[in-house]
Amino acid sequence: MSRIIISVKELHKQYGDFEAVKGISFDVMEGEIFGLLGPNGAGKSTTLEIIETLRQKSGGKVLVDGFDLDKSPNEIKKIIGVQLQTSGFYPSLNLVELITLFAGLYNEEVDPLLLLDKVNLRDKAKAKFKEMSGGQKQRFSIATTLINHPKIIFLDEPTTGLDPQARRNLWDLIRDIRSKGTTVIITTHYMDEAEVLCDRVAIIDSGKIIALNSPDKLIDELVATGFERPKEVKRANLEDVFIQLTGHALREA
Ligand code: ADP
Ligand code: MG
Repeated sequence: MSRIIISVKELHKQYGDFEAVKGISFDVMEGEIFGLLGPNGAGKSTTLEIIETLRQKSGGKVLVDGFDLDKSPNEIKKIIGVQLQTSGFYPSLNLVELITLFAGLYNEEVDPLLLLDKVNLRDKAKAKFKEMSGGQKQRFSIATTLINHPKIIFLDEPTTGLDPQARRNLWDLIRDIRSKGTTVIITTHYMDEAEVLCDRVAIIDSGKIIALNSPDKLIDELVATGFERPKEVKRANLEDVFIQLTGHALREA
């Protein structure tokens, strides 16, 4: 039985009069890939950023690896990896320069090329950030979350806007990171992605958790209510066609 690495209890977030997060509770187990799903504005990023110590909560209790967010935010910062907005990367620095810059901020000794190996970007070591494809930028930003050897990484919509090949490549990378023992919390709008990638998901709507379970169990629960798809399900979908025709290989000219 794995242990709880993040515990969120009755979390509230108020932006002025507007309550964006309305008392949500969930636990994340060590070593799992945990998904936060929900429509735009549901409160996913707010929730993540509170746990990441980047936003103040209005109420509730958060423990990260036993550290209380109210008492020990600096201890929490040391053990988490946060994906920065890619707009925050200096566009004219190359990848090695950017890693060196971030490592300095974290006060960590890092071999930039070894880190780039982890995300399959060694051959781009001297490329400028602005010269990379969308998928490469995302892979690089995931690499930066690993600089401080975190126990937990937070990925907020890492695959939004990527083509199917780049999306699959990122799934492999995320699984690889998890297989080395890192806990992953991810938000996504893509249900196929959550289904194949996440061990458990919480579905958030208007600041409340309306379901929390493994994708498999959530689907079984729906089927048990007598739900049937309106149309007969084909054995493949258009994305299967696309991948079959264009291959799994990454296109990153
Ligand atoms: P999600 O990531 O699920 O799309 P967010 O957590 O970004 O949702 O936002 C939740 C709600 O809170 C949205 O209605 C959003 O407009 C609002 N919100 C987010 N940040 C702020 C802010 N700094 N000030 C006021 N309202 C905000
Ligand atoms: Mg968001």
